[in-house]
Amino acid sequence: MTAPISAQAMAMADRVESFVREIVVPYEQDPRRDHHGAPTDDLVMELRGKARAAGVLTPHIRDDGSHLTQRETAEVLIRSGLSPLGPLACNTMAPDEGNMYLIGHVGSPALKDRFLTPLVEGRGRSAFFMTEPADWGGAGSDPSMMKTTCRRDGDHWVIDGRKTFITGAKGAMVGIVMAASVDEASKGGACMFLVDLPDPAIVIDEVPNTIDTSMPGGHSTVTIRELRVPAAHMLGEPGEGFKYAQVRLSPARLSHCMRWLGSCMRAHEIAVDYACRREAFGKTLIDHEGVGFMLAENRILIQQCRLMIDWCAGVLDGGSLGTVESSMAKVSVSEALMKIADNCVQVMGGIGVTDRTIVEQVFREIRAFRIYDGPTEVHKWSLAKKIKREWKQAREAARAEQAA
Ligand SMILES: Cc1cc2nc3c(=O)[nH]c(=O)nc-3n(C[C@H](O)[C@H](O)[C@H](O)COP(=O)(O)OP(=O)(O)OC[C@H]3O[C@@H](n4cnc5c(N)ncnc54)[C@H](O)[C@@H]3O)c2cc1C
Repeated sequence: MTAPISAQAMAMADRVESFVREIVVPYEQDPRRDHHGAPTDDLVMELRGKARAAGVLTPHIRDDGSHLTQRETAEVLIRSGLSPLGPLACNTMAPDEGNMYLIGHVGSPALKDRFLTPLVEGRGRSAFFMTEPADWGGAGSDPSMMKTTCRRDGDHWVIDGRKTFITGAKGAMVGIVMAASVDEASKGGACMFLVDLPDPAIVIDEVPNTIDTSMPGGHSTVTIRELRVPAAHMLGEPGEGFKYAQVRLSPARLSHCMRWLGSCMRAHEIAVDYACRREAFGKTLIDHEGVGFMLAENRILIQQCRLMIDWCAGVLDGGSLGTVESSMAKVSVSEALMKIADNCVQVMGGIGVTDRTIVEQVFREIRAFRIYDGPTEVHKWSLAKKIKREWKQAREAARAEQAA
């Protein structure tokens, strides 16, 4: 049994929803975007000021630094996602939300004070440096291919390598950098470091234009040359980096599901409104079975996503790392959201592919979501391996029983 959702968390979720609908939604047409369409930091900070004033900044972390339960977080994050700008305004966005969770759970009091506090207060952004360029043969779907290295040098670690698709690296205040240790004591193991950004040792090579446009700073490819990090800024213990990545993994995956479910719920509302007003062939669109069925399918899929999120959140609240469950939830929710977003575009005809509403943006964002935090195929492949292991174990147990 998981703990019930508290009245305070529900009240906060209601406040977040009102804030997003009344204050954030009118900003959706604000022209302050960078060269590839992402909101500028100027826009983000203005929205954060409004969220602070409304008491909805970083609403998933309590004043004492503790986090809401995952089921409570779902209530809040789904509502913050009702606009693609909502998570930026409320400071519930990726990658910051996952980074705050990780530092909060693994960081020492000194590291929390220095790196976490400004993030929780919404004073700056952070980035998570794990993926490496494919043309360099670095880590992608397979993190064990990590080529960025770290070596101990007195009171410091020195990091060298390359990273790619690092969301928000440009303009970030805090970085969490992963590197494989070449130090004798932790050789081959991954290490995680907290770094102040910008740092001249981390050079941004490019920020490519991408299909998605919601994340400030875009997704950078960087070269890291002789980055010196004080040993005290290592997150956790040397060689344990992948263990800490696991701590971040499930809640971060799940929170993407929460925010994008909120955005798809709003896209669905917009499509319903269009279908109930627009007429063709003598009746409103929704009365044509082809359109009505798409909206009915959306309603079913939204409910399916909600159930998947709540189930997985309950598993995490029960104390499990929930790696398998969050993997299943991520695949199920991202694939269902893709269908919902596609239906919304289709129902709205030509307007569906314009930037007059958020529907086309949501469609683009969900396409990228099927790749980051593990592509669908990688999650299914890993699940298939588990199924095979279980089959083997069951067969061996049956054989042992027969022999006894
Ligand atoms: C918008 C966006 C934001 C991102 N933000 C960050 C970030 O902030 N920090 C960070 O570190 N990374 C980030 N990433 C990187 C992301 O985590 C990787 O793109 C992802 O892990 C896949 O790695 P890759 O791109 O190298 O694909 P590859 O490893 O080259 O895989 C390509 C494709 O091969 C298929 N595939 C791979 N392995 C298997 C398998 N075992 N079975 C079946 N099919 C398989 C999948 O279809 C996969 O999509 C981001 C990516 C995107 C698109």
